[in-house]
Amino acid sequence: MSLFQPTVANLLKCPYCGNESSFFEISDDVITTTHYVQNQDGSFTIEDRSSQSLGDVKLFCGNCEEDLSSFHQRFAEMIF
Ligand SMILES: [Zn+2]
Repeated sequence: MSLFQPTVANLLKCPYCGNESSFFEISDDVITTTHYVQNQDGSFTIEDRSSQSLGDVKLFCGNCEEDLSSFHQRFAEMIF
C-alpha cells in the first residue's frame, strides 16, 4: 500500500489529511539582510531583502499542522 501514488501533476500531498494546497514553513535562527536606498527627501526604499536560516527549517501542513519536514527538500525545489 502506498500513500504516495504518483499523479500527473505529482503534487505534494499531506499524508495525514490529504491537503495539497496549503503549507507553511518555520525557520530557526534566521538572519535577514535588507538593503535600502535613501531617497532625496530622506526616506528609504527597500532595494533588496534576503534571509538565511542558520538553524532547522521545518515544513508543516497548513490544514492539520502535522510536521512534513521529510518533504521539505522536494518542497524547496518546487518554489518558483
Ligand atoms: Zn495535513
